[in-house]
Amino acid sequence: MSEPFPLFIGGRAHAGVSVIERENPSRPAEIVGSVAAGDAALTTLAIDAAQLAFPAWAELGVEVRTGLVREAISRASATNPDRAEMLARELGKVAVDALGELGFAAAFAAYAAPVAERLSADVVVEDAEGRLVTVQEPFGVIAAITPWNAPVILAALKVVPALMTGNTMVLKPSPLAPLAVTQFLSEVASQLPDGVLNIVNGGMEVGETLVADPRIAKITFTGGLATARSIAATAARRVTPTVMELGGNDAAIFLPDAEYTEAMYTRAVFGAFLTSGQVCMAIKRIFVPVDRHDEFVAGFLAAAEKVLHVRNPLDPTSTMGPVVSREHQSRLNDLIRSAEAAGGTLHEVGSWEVADEDADGYWVRPTLVTGLTDEHPLVSDEQFGPVVPVLTYQSEDEVVRRANSVEQSLASSVWSTDDEHAAAVARRLDVGFTFLNCANRAGTSLRAAFGGRGLSGHGREFGPLGLGEYLQSHSINYPNAVRQGTALGNAYPVPA
Ligand code: NAD
Repeated sequence: MSEPFPLFIGGRAHAGVSVIERENPSRPAEIVGSVAAGDAALTTLAIDAAQLAFPAWAELGVEVRTGLVREAISRASATNPDRAEMLARELGKVAVDALGELGFAAAFAAYAAPVAERLSADVVVEDAEGRLVTVQEPFGVIAAITPWNAPVILAALKVVPALMTGNTMVLKPSPLAPLAVTQFLSEVASQLPDGVLNIVNGGMEVGETLVADPRIAKITFTGGLATARSIAATAARRVTPTVMELGGNDAAIFLPDAEYTEAMYTRAVFGAFLTSGQVCMAIKRIFVPVDRHDEFVAGFLAAAEKVLHVRNPLDPTSTMGPVVSREHQSRLNDLIRSAEAAGGTLHEVGSWEVADEDADGYWVRPTLVTGLTDEHPLVSDEQFGPVVPVLTYQSEDEVVRRANSVEQSLASSVWSTDDEHAAAVARRLDVGFTFLNCANRAGTSLRAAFGGRGLSGHGREFGPLGLGEYLQSHSINYPNAVRQGTALGNAYPVPA
């Protein structure tokens, strides 16, 4: 067994106090690798390093920083193919998706660089009212906490904008998929000035120490609601600002005038079952017109039979692997049993091609469930796995109301051949993102702000709004009346 991969603090590899081993979810007896884990003292050390690095990094200038971050990511990406295999083995994500995930960091950095440069520039207004300069400044040390389901993408969405805009960072990956992301980001960090990016693996002790430290200027978190509540309670003590990217219960609304073609069903299959459904913006509830129900289920199952191959994720023909852990497997299987007990009908999706040597893996049979009411937990809560309810509706008003009736409003999708009609329905949905005629990964865009509402969180990632989360404005205002000596000092402002 190789040495655990170290922490990265203050520009160098650092030993931890314990070890996190990560097993292969397809073959749990196989340990894929391990990382060193930190504790409260090492987390504090990482914050010290980030704080020390901040003034010089902020002073460097945005063009220099964007160049350094892009270059560092591009060099670290040279070993993507080997690392993709590691990501596939530690997470159960299919190999081609793992490679795409690693490639995302460089693509996002290329998109983000000119946006960071534009957003960082002073905005100067000189008019009859006076001279107003709006300056955009970094916050300082950012605490980033990320989940396991897309560890590299979800870290890149925080690292790239935060660093380009002049902040420094301490990042804690999830213990459930720490290997590829730690290696990748340590390579990135080693090419930047010491202390700009620090990686501390660990569990709750590291996470809680990180968010509680008074030197943390902003917290950016992606993960589950229970953790978000705990972080928000800690943040409340110092009113530390947060970005919260939480779960979703995304409705896919198929309108009567949708395509209902094989191509449409194929997009819907991937929208629901990519990464075994363990995606925040995966389709979590399917709504179809009552008179299209049987046709929809048959069309969906036929398309899935062709494209959803459940087998070892390292097999290049695999399109769905296992779920992340034994605990998650049990929870999902309990949910399937409970749906059946509540009167739901189970429909097996895709082709099950799990080899005997993988039989002990954390597999969950991909399943559509018909005949449930909206009160069943499979419908009312985020399942985060490959089991999806199909619900029927009679009218557009009804489906909009039911789509909006859940607490976690992250994304949604509307399916129609009439773009105007689809967009009109989308506007009635209480979510932060709506995909048209697709869902999930295929519908995202580097330039489109992504994020939720309500218990799905607040703040945005992607797009100029996502980058803007890491800048705070500072207005420097000099009224003409004051400059000219005509102000008494008691006037209200009026439009120029
Ligand atoms: P999680 O909340 O269990 O863990 C997320 C991270 O928080 C991990 O690094 C974990 O170690 C850390 N953590 C746990 N307890 C902590 C504490 N008390 N203080 C500080 N940190 C702590 O979530 P998960 O299971 O890793 O991720 C799945 C969830 O993430 C799902 O709900 C999914 O929808 C959501 N998610 C949202 C988005 C988005 O962009 N909105 C993207 C991906 C995943």
